[in-house]
Amino acid sequence: MPGILDHPDRTHSRLAPLFVGHAIYRQAAYGSNHPLAIPRVESVMDLCGALGWLGESEFRASPRAGLDQLAWFHASDYVQALRQASETGRVDFEVRRRYAIGTMENPLFAGVFERASTSVGGSILAAELALEGRIVFHPAGGTHHGRPDRASGFCYFNDPVFAILALLRAGTERVVYIDLDAHHGDGVQDAFARDVRVRTISLHERGRWPYSGDIEDTGEGRACNLPVPAQFNDSELGVLLDEVVLPLTQTAAPQALVVTCGADALDGDPLSSMRLSNVVWWSALERIVALAPAVVVLGGGGYNPWTLARYWSGLWGRLSGREIPPELPAEALAILRGLRCDLIDDEDVRPEWLTTLVDRPNRGAVRDQIRALADRALACVDESAWAPAAERASRQAVATI
Ligand SMILES: [Zn+2]
Repeated sequence: MPGILDHPDRTHSRLAPLFVGHAIYRQAAYGSNHPLAIPRVESVMDLCGALGWLGESEFRASPRAGLDQLAWFHASDYVQALRQASETGRVDFEVRRRYAIGTMENPLFAGVFERASTSVGGSILAAELALEGRIVFHPAGGTHHGRPDRASGFCYFNDPVFAILALLRAGTERVVYIDLDAHHGDGVQDAFARDVRVRTISLHERGRWPYSGDIEDTGEGRACNLPVPAQFNDSELGVLLDEVVLPLTQTAAPQALVVTCGADALDGDPLSSMRLSNVVWWSALERIVALAPAVVVLGGGGYNPWTLARYWSGLWGRLSGREIPPELPAEALAILRGLRCDLIDDEDVRPEWLTTLVDRPNRGAVRDQIRALADRALACVDESAWAPAAERASRQAVATI
């Protein structure tokens, strides 16, 4: 595919970044007793607004995906079941069993169908806008566990799959998906396991639900999984980035990237034990997004409303070229002070979560097991499955001569 996607010098002159959001995320969701029943995308939009980082020209309202679009990936009986359950607020035993909706994990709440369809529509729009040659940030995206025919892991639909499908439908031939959530990006890896145009990399905490994504798991040859131990720190992330994530992405020469940035990989998240600072993620993502001309940056998990709002707001700030201020204006401070979370006791709310966007870096010793993980991951990767097809063909031609 010629044009912007094959910009030869790889420095990618781009159009201005865009932020995709929607007011629907201000509505209560997930009931009252669920890890996702916290302020998330709305506090990111509000914080960015308070900092003057969300001009009208930078914002696009997410459309809602139609039934025809949902059918790109999801089974029509599942889509209909979720729509009906959303309308009536009820599911019977058989529907609950078959589609995993109306459960503790994937509860029914008013507007669940509209909300899930809006995050799919946002990811499709983000991909289309990215193909113009830009970075598009869609923090409501990142529902990476959704399955074609059922809900899974708080995810009703799988919007990252739709971002990738939109890129492929537009003719993109090489896409890399990078999943930096604390949980394995199982739904996306499995969706594209047999598609030679897509490579997936997932860095996640070992031993966490969904318990997949072992180092040996390479899907059909084009997946790389980095299951990291608890207490994973900034210095250790640096090693895996430099030795595995960045070189593998470069090898694949992507025309487009889709990145899921779950905030549950941060220190202070109640559902993980990773210990990363937001500053290391901001720097990591700046290096990642430089590797392709078209980039979709999605949200993902994240169950601490303070660390999530600070991470994703600062990420948008950095991606859109702003300086992160050491001190926050009163309006931004009020947003942070107004956040609440049942999973975090008041005395565990750290002072810096209320006063600044910027974490202290959490550098530390790089454990031997991290270096071993990098070596093992590279040994598991089949280089020929990662290189673009044209390069493979030319290598074979040379070998034949
Ligand atoms: Zn997660």
